[in-house]
Amino acid sequence: MASDRYLFPVQLMQCDRYTKPRLALIGDAAHCCHPVGGQGLNLGIRDAAALAQVLKEARDRTEDIGDLQILKRYERWRKQENLSILGFTDFLDRLFSNNWLPVVAVRRLGLWIMQHLPPLKIFALQLMTGLLGRKPQLARR
Ligand SMILES: Cc1cc2nc3c(=O)[nH]c(=O)nc-3n(C[C@H](O)[C@H](O)[C@H](O)COP(=O)(O)OP(=O)(O)OC[C@H]3O[C@@H](n4cnc5c(N)ncnc54)[C@H](O)[C@@H]3O)c2cc1C
Repeated sequence: MASDRYLFPVQLMQCDRYTKPRLALIGDAAHCCHPVGGQGLNLGIRDAAALAQVLKEARDRTEDIGDLQILKRYERWRKQENLSILGFTDFLDRLFSNNWLPVVAVRRLGLWIMQHLPPLKIFALQLMTGLLGRKPQLARR
């Protein structure tokens, strides 16, 4: 049965736990962030791919795929990585929605450094596109 409608602010939020016995949260059900970085859907797709891989590996070993210990493998894999991207997105949101002059100056300096330091730019791009860390097999192609 559908619940009442709720409104949620588009800001950094993450569940304390993604899993319970026979239950795993993915996508915006597990976390959400401001759309400034265009990351929400990407994170959800990587959650789904990681969960599918964990469940497949468990099934191949004839383990119970609804067991909390199995589902925790998915949670350990995704929660920390999601938090780093959610945190970076939240930092960008705060940085770019503030017009206090010192913050504007830091912002411009940051953009200038990013422009003139390609390794930093590449690192930020890799972080935001999920190329750092453990990649689910389904998301590699
Ligand atoms: C303005 C804006 C711009 C964005 N831009 C980007 C972007 O550029 N790139 C990007 O990667 N992400 C972006 N996002 C984030 C992205 O839209 C979300 O992260 C993504 O849609 C989450 O997908 P989801 O399937 O987890 O949840 P949802 O898309 O919210 O899907 C959940 C579905 O479940 C349904 N539902 C809820 N409760 C029930 C119920 N009780 N019974 C039955 N159905 C139910 C809802 O109606 C909905 O259809 C943006 C978000 C916003 C708000």
